[in-house]
Amino acid sequence: MINEKLPKIWYGGDYNPEQWEADTWAEDDRMFKLAGIDVATINVFSWALSQPSEDEYRFEWLDETIDRLHRNGIGVCLATSTGAHPAWMAKKYPEVLRVDYQGRKRKFGGRHNSCPNSPVFRHFSRLIAGKLAERYKDHPALLIWHVSNEYGGYCYCDNCAAAFREWLRKRYGTLDKLNKAWNTRFWGHTFYDWDEIVPPNALSEEWDGNRTNFQGISLDYRRFMSDSLLECYKIEYDELKKHTPNVPVTTNLMGFYPELDYFKWAKHLDVVSWDNYPSLDTPFSFTAMTHDLMRGLKDGQPFMLMEQTPSQQNWQPYNSLKRPGVMRLWSYQAVARGADTVMFFQLRRSVGACEKYHGAVIEHVGHEHTRVFREVAELGRELGQLGDRLLDSRSAAKVAIVYDWENRWATELSSGPTVALKYVDEVHKYYDALFKLGVQIDMIGVETDLSRYDIVIAPVLYMVKPGYAQKVESFVEAGGTFVTTFFSGIVNENDIVTLGGYPGELRKVLGIWAEEIDALFPDARNQVVMKETKGALNGTYECGLLCDLIHSEGAEVLAEYGSDFYKGMPALTVNRYGKGEAWYVATSPDARFMSDFMANLIEGKGIRPLAQAPAGVEVAERVKNGKSFLFLLNHNAEEAVVDIGERRGVELLSGLEVSGAVTLPAKGVKIVEREG
Ligand SMILES: [Zn+2]
Repeated sequence: MINEKLPKIWYGGDYNPEQWEADTWAEDDRMFKLAGIDVATINVFSWALSQPSEDEYRFEWLDETIDRLHRNGIGVCLATSTGAHPAWMAKKYPEVLRVDYQGRKRKFGGRHNSCPNSPVFRHFSRLIAGKLAERYKDHPALLIWHVSNEYGGYCYCDNCAAAFREWLRKRYGTLDKLNKAWNTRFWGHTFYDWDEIVPPNALSEEWDGNRTNFQGISLDYRRFMSDSLLECYKIEYDELKKHTPNVPVTTNLMGFYPELDYFKWAKHLDVVSWDNYPSLDTPFSFTAMTHDLMRGLKDGQPFMLMEQTPSQQNWQPYNSLKRPGVMRLWSYQAVARGADTVMFFQLRRSVGACEKYHGAVIEHVGHEHTRVFREVAELGRELGQLGDRLLDSRSAAKVAIVYDWENRWATELSSGPTVALKYVDEVHKYYDALFKLGVQIDMIGVETDLSRYDIVIAPVLYMVKPGYAQKVESFVEAGGTFVTTFFSGIVNENDIVTLGGYPGELRKVLGIWAEEIDALFPDARNQVVMKETKGALNGTYECGLLCDLIHSEGAEVLAEYGSDFYKGMPALTVNRYGKGEAWYVATSPDARFMSDFMANLIEGKGIRPLAQAPAGVEVAERVKNGKSFLFLLNHNAEEAVVDIGERRGVELLSGLEVSGAVTLPAKGVKIVEREG
């Protein structure tokens, strides 16, 4: 449980009373009560208000806010306000300002704008976190700390350059080792002094954000920046823990956000929280996959849905409204996949600046007679009714998909073989196929223990880190089914090619050798032709993007390419290894193949779908104390019928007994509690 003070699914969101005159506060209190809100995230961007100058702190406004919320039965998710520095700080200490990718020194403005390696920024952020912790440590309203906000962005200033050299010294020890790791004899880049190393940006090695001449330095800069921002978080974390060792600490993550290695971050978060902003046209399986990834960061521990909009965003190109019922549906999607909170940005819509068109629980009209408020209040009532039943329940998935940020960086920094390869999209293809079959999936990192799974899928595992190939071998040897794809096993953790034939360290377990890699133009297709029917797999499928030209070294060839000069070469193989098997998908096949392939795999392992659901109906399960909570989520605009089998259960939102065929209204949700 995140905090025993509030033993239910938390309901609330970001609240900025400091942007309003005092006469609106009573109205806020009244409307929060109507909406069933019990938690408010406050003080996210109030650094300038609480610290108007270097030596002056004014927390009276915050005292008053927290006391008022507490009087109204609302707990506090208390932010440390360091997501944007005050203007006075930028003026007096320009070193807190970042230098951007183009090498330009920024001026004051925006947010998430502090250089993570600025000693001044670190000093002042440590100070304010400590002052907040000291002041509110015994306040009964305090539920959790929220450090900074949506950490992100990189800096390329001189402070960062110096810190980067220190980071490299720690990683490599000597310049010889660094030169070797980066292969610097290429293009005459040998370094003889640490000071010769400069950050890779548009002034040096990179262009277009992820194009680089030297993968080694670019990869290390991403690791270093992720670590630098994490260090800022940890400074505040330690300060908060000094005063409040028992109050949980988090910072809000952003799903598949590319710039930070969240697996590394999650080790320092007491609970993962994240901000979910799908667009109306985001596939709902993509949102599900993101929730599963956020749950996977801390090994399946429930997470917080820290932000979502009740109605619309402001920063997307086309900010469609969430249609009636969709806010509720997507809220339950988060809960189904491990969220123990449902929280919004924002509780009251601001009057000025760029978020005035961002949806809110309380709209500009200021009263409760709106569609959005009615939907919010109805959900508040339901979450109240659910009580603590679902808290701390877990996933019992037997299938895992591997995702790794460093692998993503390396894959996408790679110059060649194609610009069209998007790691996350390839991961999603596998996820989507399993999702549509109604299978529970865990998204895991490369450090996660594999032994609890029957099937582990690692699409495009381009970078194989030390020990990972052995981990895969042990998993397969013991009876596991492992799947990987084209463009895997190519490099080590420094993006240096593993010599002796692709897929490098994975060659043994896969029983194949990839001789060449062909990149297909966007409209070009080849075919995956099954040699014979294999379960659901039969006939011919289309494929594209990349085609590895592979030879079997013991693996059984199940399908071959259908055209081009490599017609007849293997496109799908399986290698028996120990008690298990390792599959290689040599290309990027169509959705029909993915569906048949995944159906085969789960059947082979006796994994059953959670329910028989038609297209557009999502199923997910949480388990706790021998009880199963089956979530049925109808994303369709019309009614749908799901067969949940003969085991009887109670539908928690209606209290009715259910079994067999269950009817879901359009955008409808049902949660079925069953024994075992
Ligand atoms: Zn910097």
